[in-house]
Amino acid sequence: MNTSLQAQRDIISRALDAIKDPLSGKGLIAAGRVENLLVSADGGVLFAIEAPAGEGPRFAPVRAAAEAAVRAVPGVSKVTAVLTAPAEGRADAPRKPSQKPPQTPAQSPPLGAPRGIAHVAMLVAVASAKGGVGKSTVAANLAAAFQGLGLRTGLLDLDVYGPSLPTLLGVAGQKPTIGPDKLLRPLMAHGLATMSIGYIVDPEQAIIWRGAMATTAVRQLIDEVAWGTAEAPLDILVLDLPPGTGDVQLTLAQRLPLDGAVIVSTPQEMALADVRRGIAMFEKTHIPVLGVIENMAWLETGGERLHVFGDGGARRTALEAGVPFLGELPIEVGLRESADAGLPFALAHPDHPLTARFRAIAAATLENARTAARPAPVIRFE
Ligand code: ADP
Repeated sequence: MNTSLQAQRDIISRALDAIKDPLSGKGLIAAGRVENLLVSADGGVLFAIEAPAGEGPRFAPVRAAAEAAVRAVPGVSKVTAVLTAPAEGRADAPRKPSQKPPQTPAQSPPLGAPRGIAHVAMLVAVASAKGGVGKSTVAANLAAAFQGLGLRTGLLDLDVYGPSLPTLLGVAGQKPTIGPDKLLRPLMAHGLATMSIGYIVDPEQAIIWRGAMATTAVRQLIDEVAWGTAEAPLDILVLDLPPGTGDVQLTLAQRLPLDGAVIVSTPQEMALADVRRGIAMFEKTHIPVLGVIENMAWLETGGERLHVFGDGGARRTALEAGVPFLGELPIEVGLRESADAGLPFALAHPDHPLTARFRAIAAATLENARTAARPAPVIRFE
């Protein structure tokens, strides 16, 4: 960092330290609450404030005060501050839906009516009703498959309960930069334009995601990132949604100009009930469900398919609900190994039959998005 940038960083740190940590009474810097302070040469500033678990509401005004204090520093033209909390479960512990902070209805300024993202031709969400079904794995490999089909592809990790993209793509620890237009530049990973809340805050932290803050931060991730340019637009942006069918997902689905959503599920009966709820949510918001993907459909052992979690349930559920079924993905140890190695399976093994499955699912998704007209609003009398 050059000396003038370092000097500016020091001034910003002092401005932040003038704001008191409500717990220790010390300045925010002295109390160690500020993380990842990014300062760009043209006046952009980005940082995270860590609040202890459960202290989110108390820290919301602190975040606002810190943002205002930094904005008042000469030379600062744009400030983005996010609030984080230590994850309740560590990153190495399996994530359970019960570990999520409770969701309360969104009270934020609304995101506004759906509108397009500059220089992005198509927006497809990958959703799941529960965590742990492989949604992020599928999203990353689907993005790789779109790229394999010749599309310029972006991948946005909105899985705010535990962003996994930095690890999945092997870019953990790298930080996005801010351009002269004050917009964040996506991190390029294996040819994909990517952004994740995990690039901005420590991946072992969970953002305090109550409806209001989630929608605000998500808006920043969408509006304040230069996804493409007039010369090099993105053909498709894949959105890895947070798991669930609660308020956060509903708000996102309503406010983003989605061309459609795919739903990832495992074949279990329990999971399928959730899939039906997911389909209903998208239908309520008039977003085409481009299809259902059954993940962990079987385990191949000794040439036999062992249907560990049941047989064909997601296909039946999709057909019953009148939405397309996009295909099955078997349990494949290599998928997890690739994720751990930071290279999506579909890129690491371009000739593998599983990659062919991802490619077929990607092609079917595109076809369904092309033909799916947004259904007319249905008025229901209850
Ligand atoms: P989610 O985003 O739904 O929480 P992840 O994509 O993080 O789920 O996947 C959860 C775990 O399951 C990860 O360790 C991932 O590598 C593994 N996984 C996902 N799909 C498969 C699969 N088809 N075969 C083997 N492991 C899988």
